[in-house]
Amino acid sequence: MEITIHRGTNQIGGCVTEINQDGYKLFIDLGEELPGKESSGELAIEGLTKGDTSKSALFITHYHADHIGKLLEAQSDVPVYMGETALEIYSCSSARLRPILQPDGIANFMHLQERLQKANSFKAGQILYWGPIRVTPLMIDHSAFDAYMFVIEAGGTRLLYTGDFRGHGFRSKAIPKMLAVYAKNIDYVISEGTNVYRTTKNESEQSLQHRFTEEFRRSKCNFVLTASTNIDRAFSLYHAAYQAGRIFVCDSYQESLMKIVASHHEAYTNFYKMRQTVYVLKRGKDGSFYFPEKLLRLMKWKGFCMMIRDNAKFWNVVAKFDGDSEQTIYYSLWKGYIDPDSSACNEKLCNALAHYPDYKYMHTSGHCDIQTLEKLFRQVKPRKGIIPIHTEHPDRFETLFGEIAPVILLRDGETYKCH
Ligand SMILES: [Zn+2]
Ligand SMILES: [Zn+2]
Repeated sequence: MEITIHRGTNQIGGCVTEINQDGYKLFIDLGEELPGKESSGELAIEGLTKGDTSKSALFITHYHADHIGKLLEAQSDVPVYMGETALEIYSCSSARLRPILQPDGIANFMHLQERLQKANSFKAGQILYWGPIRVTPLMIDHSAFDAYMFVIEAGGTRLLYTGDFRGHGFRSKAIPKMLAVYAKNIDYVISEGTNVYRTTKNESEQSLQHRFTEEFRRSKCNFVLTASTNIDRAFSLYHAAYQAGRIFVCDSYQESLMKIVASHHEAYTNFYKMRQTVYVLKRGKDGSFYFPEKLLRLMKWKGFCMMIRDNAKFWNVVAKFDGDSEQTIYYSLWKGYIDPDSSACNEKLCNALAHYPDYKYMHTSGHCDIQTLEKLFRQVKPRKGIIPIHTEHPDRFETLFGEIAPVILLRDGETYKCH
């Protein structure tokens, strides 16, 4: 087996990894670099974006743009594999982007939809083969729903590719049990390292939900700014609202995403069951939101939690409650988007939030902390090495985990021959 990380050895985002066995190429993720980051240049990858692709396949760990955003750069005959629910969510969320694409983006949009229609889906634990390469997808917990780790076997080598994951989500408890069954005799782990520079432990999603419930009990008009595709956060807010005796309000797009997840997963857990009503904002002819009189009365009487996104239409809704002492805005996203020192700082978002200087920060990371990584490495005990990816601090791995297994630092594009 040969491993090439084409991009992602020293940055968060833009990930592309290649596993090669006897000429069969299994690519993992084809992501965009993070916004505001200096581009590392165009991707030209033999067997993926150019050249002979007859023995190539592309496996996507999850639908975040830093893992799938460059999908259209793969040659059109490269088969794409993705989790079943994730594929549906991504098809729904990318379809929504159509109206905001520039005229030359429409063609791309059509290509993307076509590509997604042709994509193959898989389920957790389903064994897949690509030539001599065997892949077992393991469902893990991340801020994207239906995200995967992969156990990859070829030429006598066993590799665990972690993808983005965390140990403090609702479904994280299953990870050690799953690894105990599927990730035995691992030679190498290619591991994400988003948070290896931080020593603090992450708050759990359960604890965050509890805090939201307390907040909603105190305050009646609650607006939560969060990512629409952070599905577990959406369900957490939904439950927190009803536990606090409030109603849950969102737009029809957010409701569609939640319904996709409910349709696939409510049979397994009540968490994804939507027993109480989701109140949906109506849209006028110009696309702006309005409240039917009945809904507005109910919102004022019962109190509510509304999921919002950063656009003028939502901020107009929030503004209708300006001056109401019960109005509370929660920022439930990564702090980097509003940190002037961050390359991903979003000026528009900062300006919108500047109207609400008393907003509350209520968030927990989608990525694992150092303690969780250490636990995983100690459990899996990779015999030959740990290879960092998806991190700005690959050198920290040696200090943190060097005594558990050798740390192998690769450069973008360098090929490592497993032995
Ligand atoms: Zn991610
Ligand atoms: Zn990522």
